[in-house]
Amino acid sequence: MHDDAAMRLHGRRERDGVNAPAPDRDIADELAAIVGQANLSRPGEGRDHLLRDIFFDEGRAAFIVRPGDRSEVSAIVAVAAARGFAVVPRGGGMSYTRAYIPSVERSILLDLSGLDAILTIDPDNMFVTVEPGVTWKKLYEALKPMGLRLPVFGTISGAAATVGGGLSQGAIFHGSTQYGTVSDHILGLEVVLADGSCVRTGQAATRNAMPFFRWHGPDLTGPFLGDAGALGIKTEATFRLIPWPDHMIPLSFSFDTFEAVWNAQNAIARAGIAADCFSFDAAAQHQMMDRTSLIEDAAALARIVRSSGNLFKGMKAAARIAAGGKGFLDESPFSLHVVIEHRHMEAATAMAREAASIVAAEGGRPLPDTVPRMTRAQPFGSMDQVLGPSGERWVPVHGLFALSDGLEAMSRLQALLARHAEAMEQHRILPAILSNPVGASAMIIEVLFYWPDTPHPLHEQIVSREKYARAMRHAPNPAGRALVGQLRGDILDCFADLGSAPFGIGKTIPYRANRAPGSYGLLQSIKSALDPKYLMNPGALGLR
Ligand SMILES: Cc1cc2nc3c(=O)[nH]c(=O)nc-3n(C[C@H](O)[C@H](O)[C@H](O)COP(=O)(O)OP(=O)(O)OC[C@H]3O[C@@H](n4cnc5c(N)ncnc54)[C@H](O)[C@@H]3O)c2cc1C
Repeated sequence: MHDDAAMRLHGRRERDGVNAPAPDRDIADELAAIVGQANLSRPGEGRDHLLRDIFFDEGRAAFIVRPGDRSEVSAIVAVAAARGFAVVPRGGGMSYTRAYIPSVERSILLDLSGLDAILTIDPDNMFVTVEPGVTWKKLYEALKPMGLRLPVFGTISGAAATVGGGLSQGAIFHGSTQYGTVSDHILGLEVVLADGSCVRTGQAATRNAMPFFRWHGPDLTGPFLGDAGALGIKTEATFRLIPWPDHMIPLSFSFDTFEAVWNAQNAIARAGIAADCFSFDAAAQHQMMDRTSLIEDAAALARIVRSSGNLFKGMKAAARIAAGGKGFLDESPFSLHVVIEHRHMEAATAMAREAASIVAAEGGRPLPDTVPRMTRAQPFGSMDQVLGPSGERWVPVHGLFALSDGLEAMSRLQALLARHAEAMEQHRILPAILSNPVGASAMIIEVLFYWPDTPHPLHEQIVSREKYARAMRHAPNPAGRALVGQLRGDILDCFADLGSAPFGIGKTIPYRANRAPGSYGLLQSIKSALDPKYLMNPGALGLR
């Protein structure tokens, strides 16, 4: 807090009495006193792009503030509570379920990108504590030279997406086949509650203790994970660390049917032998291979050489990739990409052999390992990936399934897409499908929609000028966008019939409708206890 401004604020509060109602215009002065005028804006003052997400265009708030530390977050939330304003946290803004788009105009959007410090890396106790605005990329790059890593080390969007956003959504990707979600490795949190007070969870809540362990009495960390910011604002998170796995073996395979690829993924996940194990259908392959950064980018090839640890091995891998070109996936209806990793080469080799024999039993055929090798050399690509190869709009929808339900889910999904094939063709909407085990008991099926449409101001802020210029060639396509919205809803309903559990619930996933009443009632009780006026991100998780 800026000292002079804080004094003025304190004086005014004393004069008014803390609980005395004040005109709304005074709140602007109070917020400016906390964060400084430069970190406070109103709509129309140049930061409106923060009120849009990757899919949804519209959003309104009374103020956008950018706090610099936890004490400022606490002070803002206390002021909002006193004045009856909602508070909506925003991390990197890379979600697409209205999660941080305010549902009421009388809101303060809290841009947490300024809380981006890595506070403690403790190799002796194998934990790391960070502020919530740290991106997955920043954290990965800080840990790697120390020979350390998070078990699940982030999302594909991790160049922009933050730890706070990922933990509020149950994010997955790099390392998820072996280690589950990012939230599975949390030891404790610091959270600012709806009245501005601050609590710690896990062992750090014990007198004189470091945040070295999660379990001591009831788990008070859990309710704040996957909460979409509806229960509090995370201001610190502590993760457990693992040693860097020195030996990485990438493998790729071609399959003729989804059934075969799904069976292979299941068996690999159950065997616990792969860190990553994702599959693409032909459309997803095509879109991915068209991303210039994947194959033609000399810088990416150089990264392959560096990341191989051994110059000769690295150059051979890069040469294989360059020689393989882009066409090697053309004949594959489905492809599977696997990353095996271990600290010991013998173990990694044995695991790779086991994966190859599982794949062979399902009829898979080896492919060049370009995709997993490039993915690991450059885990957090440029944010140009929020648009399709020719700048078309892009948005996913997904469901998590028990391993045994995946084939039924896929067949219902394909029937649904077939029913809409003509309309999709009319609006030039292309669906692409990928699947990925999350731990040994769950699997995600994700549909990626691409359609020609103009980008919006958030895209303009995050993609390269070249990509934006390409995107601007597309005419507005509101009918296509509306159909994509409808298809996402239909797919979620279809998946819900199979007990699917999507993450990234935000304000659009039908969470409340699909929960047992007792379970949802418990969540409402927790919400009422923590936030009796329902001012924390109202509408998230269906809580109003
Ligand atoms: C190109 C691309 C690739 C993607 N790849 C993946 C992927 O591989 N895996 C995956 O899981 N998702 C992926 N996503 C979706 C998205 O990036 C993730 O869900 C990501 O975790 C969002 O993080 P964020 O920081 O952008 O959060 P935001 O979108 O800013 O916020 C998400 C939610 O978290 C809440 N929130 C944010 N910070 C806090 C905080 N400190 N305290 C409390 N609540 C908070 C917000 O209110 C909101 O409800 C991808 C998206 C894009 C655009």
